Amino acid sequence: MRELKELKKVEKFADQCMKCGFCAYFCPVYQEEHVETGLARGKNYLTKLVLRGEQEFTKEMGEIIGKCLLCKRCVVNCPAKAQIDRVVVGARAQMVKDKGLPFIKNFAFRKVMSNRKAFGRYVKLASKFQWLFPKGEGNIRHLPDFMKALGQGRHIPAIAKVFLRDQVKEVNKPQTGEQPKMRVGYFMGCATDFIYPEIGLKLIDFLTKRGVEVVVPKEQNCCGAAIYFSGDMETGRMLAADNIKAFKDLDYILTACGTCSSTLKDYKVYLPDNEEQQKAYDEFAKKIKDVTEFVVDVLKLGPEDFKLKKEFEGKTATWHDPCHLVRYQNIKEQPRQILKSLKGLKYVEMPNADMCCGMGGSFSVYHYDLTKKIADKKMDGIKATGADIVVTACPGCMINLIDNVARSKMPQRVHHILELME
Ligand code: SF4
Ligand code: SF4
Repeated sequence: MRELKELKKVEKFADQCMKCGFCAYFCPVYQEEHVETGLARGKNYLTKLVLRGEQEFTKEMGEIIGKCLLCKRCVVNCPAKAQIDRVVVGARAQMVKDKGLPFIKNFAFRKVMSNRKAFGRYVKLASKFQWLFPKGEGNIRHLPDFMKALGQGRHIPAIAKVFLRDQVKEVNKPQTGEQPKMRVGYFMGCATDFIYPEIGLKLIDFLTKRGVEVVVPKEQNCCGAAIYFSGDMETGRMLAADNIKAFKDLDYILTACGTCSSTLKDYKVYLPDNEEQQKAYDEFAKKIKDVTEFVVDVLKLGPEDFKLKKEFEGKTATWHDPCHLVRYQNIKEQPRQILKSLKGLKYVEMPNADMCCGMGGSFSVYHYDLTKKIADKKMDGIKATGADIVVTACPGCMINLIDNVARSKMPQRVHHILELME
């Protein structure tokens, strides 16, 4: 009989579901499509059929299991606390083990994204063709109709002229001239490195002005979110090993990307294949902090430490909770605390601020129509606040919010929380 190693690892989570259907109310995919297979319960049922040997994974099942944002709304609202995210990732991993990766993903994950230098070269090459895309308002471009795979008419951010890694030193000493109060590693993340370098520059400037030494290891690699959440655990483990090696002997490891911080913390949850790896991932996770968590909980900065940038004075802001911050890491209060302490900025809470924006990494590439429908609800929440700016702390959410704000012809600007600070 065929070995179901990856599925066996998550069998206990699949058994947690008591089929109550409560998740129907919370699942953004089910709320749009109203089909049982879109639901956590449906995906879990199909996986159990395979576990019991009553069914093989089919192409159709692959599509059903793939149609999940991994937003964890079902998990946190489940009365049985069934960890369906683990089941979905386990099922994807089993499919990759059985059938391998499709050609495009194999090339993207193993030849491009897992090799930071090659990734940078491909992005640089792509940037040379940006002029082909019609320019929109501000720093965004429209994908023309012929690139339907990435979403017809989608607004995409422009690629940075100079990547972050080419703008920063490896060791950034405190600007105060004193001995550093701690040494932290900065994990850039691909989107910040290639698209939003200003966020990384702001993080380094902000922390070095407050007596922290910031180390930016050049050998750091992609966090692996898109890769291991797609079931490519082998490449995920390789990236984890690269990052653990790159970030040695530091007090903390920070990122300004909610997806990166949760992915790095969760190597211990999704990736271990043996005890040694489990131990290494557990140790690594202890040092990971999202930047909002770090400044509030570790540095214990208060309202007097945060100053609003002049251009935002008199504006009204609202906060969007990235799934990977609010549900994966329970980071909800820290960013609100920072925003509320910025004098001159009015803060308004958005209805359903923690609802997924519909991005879900590669989900939005394969299911862009669904992404747009889910994002429409987020746009309704934003409109209800009357805010001028939407603030968040995940470049992935920023890309999707910018697209949907532009598509809905709304006036709001989308910013990373660090961009608001002087
Ligand atoms: S995943 Fe949770 S909420 Fe959904 S049917 Fe199963 S037990 Fe009920
Ligand atoms: S993780 Fe999100 S999209 Fe996936 S089944 Fe749960 S609620 Fe639905």
